[in-house]
Formats: sequence, C-alpha cells, structure tokens
Amino acid sequence: MKKNRIIVVSLISLGIIFIFGISFYLIFCNKFYVSDFKKEVTINYKEKFNPTYGIVKYGNLFFKKDVKHNYKGNVDINKLGKYQIKYYYKYKKNRYILTQTVYVKDLEKPVLNIEGEELKYCPNGKLKTYNYSANDNVDGDITSKVKVELKDNYIIFSVDDNSGNNIVAKRKAVPNDNESPKLTLNGNQYITIYKDTFYKDQGATAVDDCDGDLTSSINVSGNVDVSKAGTYVIKYSVKDSSNNMSTIERKVTVKERYIAPPVSGGKVAYLTFDDGPGEYTNKLLDILKKYNVKVTFFVTNQSYSIGYDSAIKRAFDEGHTIALHSYTHNYSYIYASESNYFEDLTNIQNKVKNITGYTSTIIRFPGGSSNTVSRFNRGIMTRLANEVTNRGFTYVDWNVSSGDAGGTTDTAKVYENVINGINSHDVSVVLQHDIKEFSVNAVEDIVKYCINNGIELRPLTPNGPTAHHGINN
Ligand SMILES: [Zn+2]
Repeated sequence: MKKNRIIVVSLISLGIIFIFGISFYLIFCNKFYVSDFKKEVTINYKEKFNPTYGIVKYGNLFFKKDVKHNYKGNVDINKLGKYQIKYYYKYKKNRYILTQTVYVKDLEKPVLNIEGEELKYCPNGKLKTYNYSANDNVDGDITSKVKVELKDNYIIFSVDDNSGNNIVAKRKAVPNDNESPKLTLNGNQYITIYKDTFYKDQGATAVDDCDGDLTSSINVSGNVDVSKAGTYVIKYSVKDSSNNMSTIERKVTVKERYIAPPVSGGKVAYLTFDDGPGEYTNKLLDILKKYNVKVTFFVTNQSYSIGYDSAIKRAFDEGHTIALHSYTHNYSYIYASESNYFEDLTNIQNKVKNITGYTSTIIRFPGGSSNTVSRFNRGIMTRLANEVTNRGFTYVDWNVSSGDAGGTTDTAKVYENVINGINSHDVSVVLQHDIKEFSVNAVEDIVKYCINNGIELRPLTPNGPTAHHGINN
C-alpha cells in the first residue's frame, strides 16, 4: 500500500512540475512574436514595392522588445511575375527569417478611345469603318484585338488585355448608307496607242463600304476605234444597293503611226546601227566625221559593248542620235514580263544618261517589234508596243535591212542590200550592226552613194519616221 502511494504522489508531482514548467516557458522564456505578416502580396504593374515586415517582437508574455529587421530579394515592378522576398529579424544574437511571395500583376483595364458619339452602320447590318484605339498599361497598343459588334442599336466595342482585364464601351448606332462605291481603273487613265494596233480595255474594280465587291456590276460605255486616229473616252459607272453612284473615265488616244519627215524634194535615209558600241564603232565614227554625216546608234550593254562607253560619248558629242536598244539584249529575260522589259530599258536609258547627260526616248526592240522569238510569252509585243508608246517612248523598226544579222557576211552584199533598199523607198530606215566589221566596211561606199545621188542622210528624232513592222506576237 505504501508503495502505491509513493508512485501516485510521484506521478502527481511530476505532472505539477511539467505543467509548471510549460507555463514558466510560455510566460518567461524569450522568443519571436509575429503578427500581421502577409505571406503573399500582390502589387500592380509599375507600382512601387514596399517591404511589409508585419509586427515582429522578441521577448516573453510580459516583456517584448522591438527587433532589427531588413530584407533580401528583388521585385521587378516592370515585369509581371512571382518574386520571393526574405525578411530577416534580429534581436541580439537571435535571428528569425520569414518568406513572402510577391506577385506583380496587371490590375488595370485597357483604355478604349472611340471617335464619335453616334456611329453609322449599313442598312444590311454590315459595320462601317470606325476610328478607335485601345491601349493597355502593360500590353501597349491592343487596337487590333478590339471586337466590334452591332447589338440592339448599339455598336459595342470590347477588348481584353493579356491578363484578362476587360473593357466594354458602346455607342448609339444609326443605319445609314450615303457613301458611293470606290471605282478604280485597272491600268492607266490616259493611254496612247498607235493606229491599227490592238486595244484591250483592262476594266475597273468597284468596292462599296456596304455591298463589298461590285466589280461585276460596273457598267462600261464607249469604245476605241483603232483604225481611226483620235481620242476616245471610256466611261465606267456603278451603283450600290442604296443607289449611290460613282463614275470614272479613261481617255485612249489613237495616234497616227507614221509622221512623215519634211523631205526637201528628194529621198531621205536614216542609217541606224544596233548592238554597239563595240570594237568598230570608232572606225565608223571616223568615216561619218569625214563626210559630216549623222546617223543613229541603238546602244546596248552586252558583252561586245562593254569597255566602249567612250564611243557613246563621242558619237553623242559629234551629233549622232543615241537611241536605246537593250541593256542585256537577252530575249528570254526581257520578254518574260513587262516588268523585266522595262527594268532592262531603264538600265540602258540610265547608262546613256550617265554618259551623255541626255535622256533618250527613241527605242528599238531587240529583234524588232515583229519578232517571234518572244512567242514564249503570248502577246507580249502587242502589250509592250502599246505600253512604251504610252510611257512616252518612240519605237522604231526598219524598212531596209542590210542583211548583216545573218543573211550575209560579205561587205559587197551589205552595200548592195542597202542601196537597193534606199532606192526603193522615199524614206529609208536602214538596219546595220556596228559590232560587225564587214558591215562597217560598207558604210563609206553607202555614204558616198547617198551624197552623189542627192539622198539626204539624217539622224532619227522622236518625231521622225518609225518604220513600224507588223506585230506578230
Ligand atoms: Zn539587236
């Protein structure tokens, strides 16, 4: 019995000591006391970050002291994201650490700017074009994300930024269609073509703000008679479903093909030389100088002519006409497209201008306007002949061929061909090539023949004879 009592008393004593110890610890032992500390904090984009320490003290239940504190970690307020901040608290040699998560978020709505208090829409329900913009503090310009819709007589504009902040604005809407369709000509408004060529109208396109594409409803009137010189007007008109009408006109001038030069009674011959300058051009210039005769050079920049630019300058300074043949003389390139052709032509025109200061507008198509080598591109010569004329160039073919392009390699034959040709025309445009020595060798006799027989030799001018061939493509 005595033994049991001792055990009971011991247990009770231990219990009392334990409770007493705990209470003593809670009341008198020192530790960190924390209140009002936020484990998670959210701040707005670009808002200043202020560390929040909460209230942290060190001490016991009755006596608490302030502690020293600081923090480590960085919050980039210019970048949305999640950041960790560590707060350090210190009292004498005792330390304590707390961690806080800081979210930098976009908390602001975008701003919508809409021009006009009352907006129009098409009677068929189609929206018109409105002037509005949307800007967000984080995403910048988000105008392209704005949704526009018509609902219950209001135009509703709404947009979300990338963080899901939404703004909606509405404007009173009234049905209205007083805008005419937009009519646009395909091709040039003013076109010049030569008589007896071919004219194909390129038409026009029409777009209406309410009805969309109205091209198929365009009414075209007027026609072009290519057999008669004159100016022709083609009229295009179109109406939208609210009867708003638009009209536009095109003027097509059909030009006489051939302007005869003032011939002083006798025959006139225009000697022309293609594909140079080249090795024999200076020799030719010497002959022409000797007899004071002026001719025309259709120049190139192909392999034969590279290195002979000074001959172009000399020919120009000595009064000859510098006309344009081709920069590359490469048929498969220049006749592949209109843009290739005009790029090549512009290159040779610029070259001549750089050498002489003169902007030449007389041209000769490689192969002549009658060539068939371009047939890999159907109709290109018809289109080019019209387009060069339209752009202010004069193209010139020939009516007397020396045969030096393949018919002969004999100087005597060249002479014979040229003289026969000149004798059978009142106005001759003679084709020779100054890159061929045997052909250049015939020139002195040709010149002498002309002088002795009262045939006037002239250089070509933009309003001189054109000797046009029939176009075969
Ligand atoms: Zn040529």
